[in-house]
Amino acid sequence: MDRKIEEAMNRQINAELWSAYLYLSMSLYAKSKGLDGVSHWMYLQWLEEQDHARILQEYMLRVDAKVTLMPIDGVPSSWESVYAMFKDALIHEQQVTHMIRRMVKMAYDVDDFSTVSRLQWFIDEQVEEEDSVRAILSALEMLGGDSAAMYEYDKSLLCRQYTKAEPLG
Ligand code: MG
Repeated sequence: MDRKIEEAMNRQINAELWSAYLYLSMSLYAKSKGLDGVSHWMYLQWLEEQDHARILQEYMLRVDAKVTLMPIDGVPSSWESVYAMFKDALIHEQQVTHMIRRMVKMAYDVDDFSTVSRLQWFIDEQVEEEDSVRAILSALEMLGGDSAAMYEYDKSLLCRQYTKAEPLG
């Protein structure tokens, strides 16, 4: 694997683990506010982000590249509101999308088509990630601070189920 791609992949692994850490923090924050559904939703994000890191790690080992685990930066632990928290989640996912697009471009530049192919899953996944956060933001906007409606909406988020990322089999 090209050195620059290897470095970018390791940075991406770190970014996925940081995402996991961020969502765990959001899950704990929501729990502390009595929003069990939001907390559960964020908890599944924490699991999914760890899957994302694992997909990259496993791929790198398969192509004989070196995985280097770097320190994970701290994450915020409180937000002004649940809405602000999801807004942060959206901004974060948009940044991740940007990182992945840049990496695909780099991989194309050095004819590393197997990495392009592996990253294609992430390109599609990011569309899902951004869409699901946007859907929650729209729902929260419609609730407009009605606490009874928020109670019901929060409960509806408890239905979300964890499914292991497809590349992990
Ligand atoms: Mg991710």
